[in-house]
Amino acid sequence: MLLPSPQISKLVVQTKTAIAIPSVTQFAHYSQQQRHVSVAVPNSVASSTVSSSTSSPLIDFNNTKELYRTRSITNLVSSYVTLKSCQLSLLARWGPTLLEAGGPVSALGAKLTYFRYFCGGESLEDASIQEAINYCAKDGMKVILDYSVEGANSDKRADEINQVILNSIYFSEKENAKAGAERLSFGVVKMTGIIDCKVLEKLSEIICYEQVHQVEKSMLPNSLHIESYHNKMNFRTPAFSFANKKPTPLNDDELAQLDRTLQRLDKLCQASKTTGVPLLVDAEHSYYQPAIDQMFMLMCLRYNEQGKHPVVYNTYQMYLKDAFQRLQYDREFAKARGIDLGCKLVRGAYMKLENERSRGFSLPSPINPSIEATHTSYNNGVQYALQNIHQMAVVIATHNQNTVVQSADWIVNRYGIPRENRRVQFAQLYGMGDSLSLALSLSGFNISKYVPFGPLNEVLPYLSRRLIENSDVMGGATNDIQRTEKEIKRRMFIR
Ligand SMILES: Cc1cc2nc3c(=O)[nH]c(=O)nc-3n(C[C@H](O)[C@H](O)[C@H](O)COP(=O)(O)OP(=O)(O)OC[C@H]3O[C@@H](n4cnc5c(N)ncnc54)[C@H](O)[C@@H]3O)c2cc1C
Repeated sequence: MLLPSPQISKLVVQTKTAIAIPSVTQFAHYSQQQRHVSVAVPNSVASSTVSSSTSSPLIDFNNTKELYRTRSITNLVSSYVTLKSCQLSLLARWGPTLLEAGGPVSALGAKLTYFRYFCGGESLEDASIQEAINYCAKDGMKVILDYSVEGANSDKRADEINQVILNSIYFSEKENAKAGAERLSFGVVKMTGIIDCKVLEKLSEIICYEQVHQVEKSMLPNSLHIESYHNKMNFRTPAFSFANKKPTPLNDDELAQLDRTLQRLDKLCQASKTTGVPLLVDAEHSYYQPAIDQMFMLMCLRYNEQGKHPVVYNTYQMYLKDAFQRLQYDREFAKARGIDLGCKLVRGAYMKLENERSRGFSLPSPINPSIEATHTSYNNGVQYALQNIHQMAVVIATHNQNTVVQSADWIVNRYGIPRENRRVQFAQLYGMGDSLSLALSLSGFNISKYVPFGPLNEVLPYLSRRLIENSDVMGGATNDIQRTEKEIKRRMFIR
């Protein structure tokens, strides 16, 4: 067992909410798993955590003068007012409902306020996209252009969305070439933008059914079949009940849709390979995820290679009970086939919806029983990727300061990975976690901002999720609010 390094000890502050990395046996409890996977994460950092208010020797959040050195006072005041307003109880209560309802009034309201702050623009041609790229580059941060449109309701629409994502990959390549440096780090695809959700759900149901029942003959179409992959993943918490019925196979129309989707995804991966701008596959609802994972693994087998930077990355939502096992399973599967695995680690954005759905179907929730279990799962994921960095690449996508400080310490002090190693990246959302991003950049880590773009009325669900996240007065925005306030006062010579 590894012991905490002296550097970690220096950072360690015991708190009531200490994040303990459990043993594999404890982990089994969270995931209600039926099967253990072979690789265990050391539990040597059990009960260690880092105070959320302090800086570490690696990352300094307290020197706001240095942190915000490129930001004008107007910019700081605007950030302060926007983030603070998200925490107003009236807005926190009604904002997301209004945004989700859509309509011209909420669209106009959002456009004049939060859209500008949290999004890059409506299309790649918008001057504001270029401004966002320059704004980030000035602070040593890269940009991930995210066409944040969900719910392809027709084939034509799915083609259009795919084309914009494709354009964003070529746009990123062109911008990097123009700057002579990597200014845009990844392309992103949200699968619900390029396939009908109903097909994703039906495929996921078939996959889960076959995982639970270990059927002899798979109902999955050949185009999606991967030898010994999905049927061995029998530890997943299924998002479906099979008590009354067995799912039906895809009909001809659905099969044709699937084929076109695989062609779209292949086109994106091909572009990522030729441009050197890797593709992140976003994670979505747990009842779409089995199909998304299957399509990802298909592309991973096709495009990722051993010892080369992965072309395509999957996203693992560590709030899911089975996430850590899936991460281990995927890496073992990729390793056995001589390829490297790319992963983006997030906690997960659909908790309320997932819990409501599972209650409605009288199913066990796929989400961890507590936030501590999610923190543990996330930390396990980070450690596991860092331990295996010669065969993996990881994007640590979070606004959690403890996680950022802890991960930075592990990267440098425990695993001796150079900060600039492209296989380890941090990412935060545009307009969120800015003080974390700036501090990471100042310390020489790879840091990217996810910059969503898209027609205003189509990014409203995204904006609604950001409002909910930022409305939490104990949440991540609080650090940014306090730090910008401190810097505004410093500049105005008020202490
Ligand atoms: C760059 C980037 C890319 C992202 N991409 C995706 C994506 O592809 N798919 C996606 O789903 N999300 C994505 N997210 C959003 C992410 O999943 C989180 O919603 C968000 O980042 C908040 O988590 P955190 O780690 O930043 O912060 P924290 O504030 O530390 O954690 C909050 C999170 O903990 C979890 N949690 C809270 N309460 C509980 C509880 N009682 N039990 C169990 N778990 C709990 C929830 O996931 C919640 O969002 C992305 C985030 C970033 C920064």
